[in-house]
Amino acid sequence: MKFNPLASWRKKETTQLVSLDPQNPTYIQQAIQDGWKHPKKPKPRVQAIFEIVLPDNVLNPYLRYRALVELSRVPRHANEQLLFHGTNRSCLLGDGKQRTRPCSTSQCLLCAVIRKSFDVARSGKRHKFRRFGRGIYTTACSSKADDYYAGVHNSPFRAVLVNRVVVGTPLTRQHNAKDLTELPNGYHSLVGVPGADLNYDEIVVYSNDAIRPAYLVVYAADPPPDVHIDLRDMFSALFKTPMAASLAGKTLKQVH
Ligand SMILES: [Zn+2]
Repeated sequence: MKFNPLASWRKKETTQLVSLDPQNPTYIQQAIQDGWKHPKKPKPRVQAIFEIVLPDNVLNPYLRYRALVELSRVPRHANEQLLFHGTNRSCLLGDGKQRTRPCSTSQCLLCAVIRKSFDVARSGKRHKFRRFGRGIYTTACSSKADDYYAGVHNSPFRAVLVNRVVVGTPLTRQHNAKDLTELPNGYHSLVGVPGADLNYDEIVVYSNDAIRPAYLVVYAADPPPDVHIDLRDMFSALFKTPMAASLAGKTLKQVH
């Protein structure tokens, strides 16, 4: 997944959400559509994209860690990748361009991450099963991140985070390793590869400094079917006379 450098990150005391054109940046659109792998889930319609502008004191430890890993990794892939994470949202953050202030209710994990980033100590609070142990889980599969989203009933929208993740030199695994708490020396992330125990990829990091939220994507996950108006039904309903209905029917037949 390619993306722009940290051009628009600005010095702020608290996290700011900046509304972007939902068609841009195109790499986010592309990533969410290409990463939507579950065949039975309807494709998402992106409603809004927000850039998450973190305050310096939250961002800087990440930048330092990223630079350190850059020096020590085996450079086969990009050091940093943009990856999805789904969690629960108990407010309406992102539903409309004006709703850009993260809430501070303790149940709203989405807003907690947006304000202070991820905390590995909270790993497994919602989902007890941790395939690769106590870490922070992300994926390139947007429809998998969507599985982990839980929202409020009065919103038609869903939301996932797009995160900057320092993948560094990844350890790849096909089988579960539930007791893992750290990686062997020389590795910076764990990449779970589909095939044996997984259906879709997972990328896990075990350090808070290895990840920061970068974008919030808000979308409708259940597109209504195309609106199909039957003109004959419409004429019948309008005039309620057999003649009008049959005339309408004839006209339509001639047209077709
Ligand atoms: Zn919230």
